[in-house]
Amino acid sequence: MTSILLACFAILIALPLGCGSDSSAAEPEPICFDSGPLPLGESIPSVDAECSLPATSAVVTDAHAQSGALSGLGSDSAITIVTCGTGTPIPSDRAQSCTAILVNGLFLLFDAGDGAQRSLERLQLPVAEIDAMFLTHFHSDHIADVGEVISRSWILGRTTPLTVYGGESVQRVVDGFNGVYALDDNYRVAHHGEDILTADVGRAEAHTIADPGAGGRVVFERDGVAVTAFTVNHPPIEPALGYRVDYAGRSVVISGDTTATASLLEMSRDADVLVAEVMNEELLETLECALRGGGMERNATLLRDIRTYHIGTRALGELAAEAGVGMVVLTHLVPGFDNDDPRAETLFGDEVAEVFSGEVVTARDGTTVTIE
Ligand SMILES: [Zn+2]
Ligand SMILES: [Zn+2]
Repeated sequence: MTSILLACFAILIALPLGCGSDSSAAEPEPICFDSGPLPLGESIPSVDAECSLPATSAVVTDAHAQSGALSGLGSDSAITIVTCGTGTPIPSDRAQSCTAILVNGLFLLFDAGDGAQRSLERLQLPVAEIDAMFLTHFHSDHIADVGEVISRSWILGRTTPLTVYGGESVQRVVDGFNGVYALDDNYRVAHHGEDILTADVGRAEAHTIADPGAGGRVVFERDGVAVTAFTVNHPPIEPALGYRVDYAGRSVVISGDTTATASLLEMSRDADVLVAEVMNEELLETLECALRGGGMERNATLLRDIRTYHIGTRALGELAAEAGVGMVVLTHLVPGFDNDDPRAETLFGDEVAEVFSGEVVTARDGTTVTIE
């Protein structure tokens, strides 16, 4: 039998201390995910092809070559924003939270909810060239696809480690995904070889952002691009962060999930673009009442609770106007509508525009905004 001995995957995970305990106080312990000989069968059959290319043939590019061509999206002095996921946990055909920013050759990804990875690939964004991920908070609709982004970017050609930035507990989240994907990583290295897939690069590294406060703190600086994290208000979720990206006098703010709060207002001052979550409170209230009327108390209560920690259309418009932002891009639409549903424009964009005179874009998956 071909015994494939793999290097031990020493992965730091925070061990839970049991129900009700404060896991954040636990010291991370190294855990070995060495699976030993993998259950891959006796041997891997050889299927070498005998290739002879015709003089003229179609050009087939691999994902990395393709992404290299696309990286021009973030070149020069422009900032390009792509809403790769504009949905929420409320079902629709939208991918959940995902915003890509391409700036000065860097690819920064903010959140990766369910469907985010497939959306990134469908949009032909340069997945293999992701330079860093930033998580606003750890609700599932913002992190469900973090493992897929880590894994797929590696498979498609990422050659440098991927760092995932987030508030306290991001280590736990990243360790969890690394652990879940450890067997898959082993299989792929064993199958394709270290020359094709380097094991160390297959795992992500966590970068914990200690409480940045309402005033924010720069957490990432590279090639003239600065990312500032700041706290927002999404109770009871803590930490909940927003981010501001600055480059060459241009700026983009990502609200994360939040109510209208002073930190978002201050960090959005004079920003070119505010990418903001938004809810239609009246619609949520109507839906809640309909559910109560139908005897569906539990679901009605869930809808009621949603209204306590998001930002309404009018409040968002007023905040954007006071902050003096140039454009508001609406994402994370609550409740959800499919990408092609024209009611989204009416129920979100038009309402924000009633109190905000700048440009309002009701985003769908794939909406692209470039700040020249
Ligand atoms: Zn949330
Ligand atoms: Zn959310």
